[in-house]
Amino acid sequence: MKKDCEHQRILQMRYNLEKWRHHDSSFFPYSAELHIVQRCNLSCKYCGGGTRFSNEKEMSFQELRNVIGQCLQMQVKEFNFSGPEPFTRKKELLSIIRDIKKNNRRVSISTNGTLLEQKDIINLINLGCDELCVSLDSHISSVNDYLRNSPKTFDKVIKTLKLFQKYKFGGKKNPQISITSVISTLNHKHLYDFARYISDYDIDCINFQPLMIQTNGAENLVVNDTQLETVLESLNQISRLLKKLKISSNAYDLCNSDYFIKSNNSFELRLGIAKIKKSEYENNIICYNPWYNINILHNLYLGPCIKFAELKTCSFKSESLNQIWFGNIFNQIRDDIINKKYRESCRDCNVCAEGLIELKNQIQ
Ligand code: SF4
Ligand code: SF4
Repeated sequence: MKKDCEHQRILQMRYNLEKWRHHDSSFFPYSAELHIVQRCNLSCKYCGGGTRFSNEKEMSFQELRNVIGQCLQMQVKEFNFSGPEPFTRKKELLSIIRDIKKNNRRVSISTNGTLLEQKDIINLINLGCDELCVSLDSHISSVNDYLRNSPKTFDKVIKTLKLFQKYKFGGKKNPQISITSVISTLNHKHLYDFARYISDYDIDCINFQPLMIQTNGAENLVVNDTQLETVLESLNQISRLLKKLKISSNAYDLCNSDYFIKSNNSFELRLGIAKIKKSEYENNIICYNPWYNINILHNLYLGPCIKFAELKTCSFKSESLNQIWFGNIFNQIRDDIINKKYRESCRDCNVCAEGLIELKNQIQ
């Protein structure tokens, strides 16, 4: 299923790029990333979410519905809701998921999994939400709660997973549950035990991420070279285990990439991704985002990715999505990528995971 989506996405990127090259304006954004909040109930050691994010005004519910309506009109196929923590706006989120699913589009949500009650879980299942990506760093509650910087986080996530198990009866597959775990000095020794433990909860996918330093002190959590050896060995074992259990994972790719796990800054991370995904790069395009994605911030600014959205050059407040998608700013970003005039945002990017042909050359 995940593979099908990925394949579909790649086909769409190529299709959109060709349309644009031929000045054919019948290509539309395939996916929309929505950051509908600027809040998190946690304050993880490496992210600091609860304290790091500002209290800047979030779009109203009416504005949110308008944004979704424009995306539906522009034929967006996939809606991905992500952080900081989208369920801090739970009631409104569930309401717009209902609207989106009525239009038969795909919905995925990234969450820390701590704010869902039984009725929300039943709701998500009945609404047909397609995927829930839940963060969990360890099966040892004290380690997880230390990293997540909040007591009982582990218990809350496990309760959430158990409730999904309980209510996804009658052959219901959705939402598919993905677990994302950040690799650090504190969990690097027991990644295999973690994967084995969590696989008992009817999980569809387990992914691992390198730790990105976003707070003071987080550098102490990045694995050193010796610990990295242990990580790579564990990822090897995990990939064998999960293959047997038919659970998707990026462990298959990562166990051959020390570069990726060691990454703790944007540029290294990009190189790591390039190394893993180099077979997908073609057309000499470092990134396809401007041809297939829109990233919408809580304050109604948008761009082809979060980095361009944060530059605050396009906003739903002044233009429609149609005007922005076919407008000068998006077209200039596309031109610059095609002509290899990379802007600062693209040069120091940890968002893009597509088409890094230039970086591929650097690591060969
Ligand atoms: S990592 Fe996620 S859950 Fe943790 S503070 Fe940041 S946004 Fe919140
Ligand atoms: S900043 Fe990154 S994600 Fe955005 S267009 Fe540039 S390379 Fe792509």
